Amino acid sequence: MRQAIFGDMIIDRLIEVEGPGYAPNVFFPEATSEGFEGEMDWLLPHFWDIAAKTYLRAIQSYVVRTPHHTILVDACVGADKERPSSPAWHKMESTWMDQLVSSGVHPEEVDFVLCTHLHADHVGWNTRLENGRWVPTFPNAKYVFHKDEFRYWEKVGKVNGGQGSQDECFVDSVLPVMAAQQAVLVDGDFEIDDLLTLDPTPGHSPGHVCVNLNAREQQVVMSGDILHHPVQVAYPEWNSRFCVNPDKSRESRRAFVEKYADTDTLLLPAHFASPTMGRIVSNGLRCKYQLADS
Ligand SMILES: [Zn+2]
Repeated sequence: MRQAIFGDMIIDRLIEVEGPGYAPNVFFPEATSEGFEGEMDWLLPHFWDIAAKTYLRAIQSYVVRTPHHTILVDACVGADKERPSSPAWHKMESTWMDQLVSSGVHPEEVDFVLCTHLHADHVGWNTRLENGRWVPTFPNAKYVFHKDEFRYWEKVGKVNGGQGSQDECFVDSVLPVMAAQQAVLVDGDFEIDDLLTLDPTPGHSPGHVCVNLNAREQQVVMSGDILHHPVQVAYPEWNSRFCVNPDKSRESRRAFVEKYADTDTLLLPAHFASPTMGRIVSNGLRCKYQLADS
């Protein structure tokens, strides 16, 4: 799915990176090769790379256009960011901005930027480099951050002398938005136009939220990093190595899978590879991910 239209809502997917991920047991420390192998009948061909012997993943954003607003959900890695601990992301260049403009949206037309959480691969395009300074990429947008998430990274940054948040991503991609007075710190009850609501799902990070779209014709959830890969629909107990609170992360993921299993709700996850959009369905004792296009 590159674009989905539900009534008067248009959703575009902007893909910054796509391809094989880390070794499976590196990214998912509790994962077993038997577990992956048991799900290959539905993981292939879109979510597993046989040649690379690892899973496929993407880093992507969603642009939602309602009759009244243009909303960017998650801001990927971004351009020119100093990320020495993640060489592939260090001073990265991509076609992300070209994709945004090609979808018919210019940066000044974005009304809201909503980050499901504040990890480096979700805040990058919040800011851009201008004359050596980081400035908001979207000059007319309100940037929506969950209070718990913002306060956690603010504290981590202070404790570690500003070094705490994934190669300074809080400093270069969040604080400049605060300085420009474009940030809005919200609780879980924030909503836009009755159409877009938040679902607090802490664990991967303290203030992680999923974003619900309540279109008349279709329920959609942009699920951020509550699931990194479809295999976690079958194994919700498998955390990623980046889950800040492992127990809470499992609890939120299990509840999420149970809530949406065998419903009509479509998922738009932050890291599922193309074609990405699908539903959670029962599959014997476990669940599986069923692509919307199949
Ligand atoms: Zn992520």
